[in-house]
Amino acid sequence: MIFVSINWVKRFIFGFSLLFILVASGLAKEPLNFVIIFTDDQGYGDMSCNGHPTIHTPNLDRMAYQGQKWTQFYSSAPVCTSSRAALMTGRLPVRSGMASSKRVVLFPDSAGGLPQYEITVAEVLKEVDYKTGMVGKWHMGHLPEHLPTTQGFDSYYGIPYSNDMDRDLSVKGNWIELGKTAPWSAYRVPLIKNIKEIERPVNQNTITRRYTQEAVKFIKDNKSKPFFLYLAHSMPHIPLYASRKFKGKSLNGIYGDVIQEIDWSVGQVINTLRQQDLHKKTIVMFTSDNGPWEVFKTHGGSSGLLRGAKGGTREGGMREPTIFWGPGNIKPGVIQEMGSTLDVLPTFASLAGAKVPTDRKMDGYDLSEVLLSRGKSPRKEMYFFGGAKLSAIRFENYKVQVREENGINPIILEKPELYHLGEDPSEKYDLASKRPEIVKDLINRGERLKSGIKPVPDQLVPKISK
Ligand code: MG
Repeated sequence: MIFVSINWVKRFIFGFSLLFILVASGLAKEPLNFVIIFTDDQGYGDMSCNGHPTIHTPNLDRMAYQGQKWTQFYSSAPVCTSSRAALMTGRLPVRSGMASSKRVVLFPDSAGGLPQYEITVAEVLKEVDYKTGMVGKWHMGHLPEHLPTTQGFDSYYGIPYSNDMDRDLSVKGNWIELGKTAPWSAYRVPLIKNIKEIERPVNQNTITRRYTQEAVKFIKDNKSKPFFLYLAHSMPHIPLYASRKFKGKSLNGIYGDVIQEIDWSVGQVINTLRQQDLHKKTIVMFTSDNGPWEVFKTHGGSSGLLRGAKGGTREGGMREPTIFWGPGNIKPGVIQEMGSTLDVLPTFASLAGAKVPTDRKMDGYDLSEVLLSRGKSPRKEMYFFGGAKLSAIRFENYKVQVREENGINPIILEKPELYHLGEDPSEKYDLASKRPEIVKDLINRGERLKSGIKPVPDQLVPKISK
């Protein structure tokens, strides 16, 4: 009798193990889809789940509750072009010439763009048969040879540079005031479909809604294949416009209206994934390219309790409101460890079983262990560049600031400053004189990094010849 029951137990264990292996391998084989929702100049404090008292973001809050909210997640640059180059390549933008000490970002007269020798996350995923789509602001070169369709994306719908560029010069006025009051028709920004201009100037009142429609269509059209969608909203970068349904609806003025429309858009993407039964095999990431544009006052956002804003390498310029969502895959929680947009390429490659380039220096880490099981983040350090100059270095909890941004050429501080970002996330209390050995160690880390960066042509300087 005992013999029979032991045998039965063994069979049960064997059968159960087999079933587990089959289910596990089945799950492992099911490719994950990836969606990046990227906003422009949204501050760390600009969502209700990060404490904003007058902007209501129920969809982002729900995403954060069901997924992971990261509280120490960094962009790789405090401005648009460089930040996006890092997100796409997993490499510091100085390595691709997409950070410059001469010009802040790419402009409509720029001839440069992300070099073709760079390998984007879209190209990495295409190697394992993903369908790839981009919707929104690109800002890595607007000439045909630099558009998303040359960098691994099967399709593109969006504006090629910032929404305040190509201003109609007959509309006179102070730059800051115009950024707050000019009509959308004052900015001759083109809307491009793949490589063709389809509208100019683009009607920015409806742009967030139209990006959303395109994103939803991309998901539905590609539901039977693994896909990667990069949805990069062109706002809350100034000038700010919202569609009729959202205009005047927030307590925060037009800035809040814009964020609330983007929040609605996030809800549309999530709802579409649920309706198409894709939610259990899709990872959605939400983050911003850099901090809020403070000079525009109420038309710029808020870094919350962080110091500094867009254009600078204090935390408010670099730390982003960040959420990862994926029911059944992403382990819910608040992650207080470090991550960066530099880590997106290696993380998605790891989750998709794709190869990370090995013929070049990569600056990203694979965060998949943190996403799937809340393991420890492999990222312990972060390098903060203002233009092409290294301004600050973080290792574990300490950050040393050696330069301060003041335009494109950060000036060297009289004395380096040191902050403990755990105890002092607002960078208020300089510890440099108390901990000189840490200052020295961090500066040495920065020197080692710099000595490994090979000079390449500056992509932001060349202009289109007339
Ligand atoms: Mg930006």
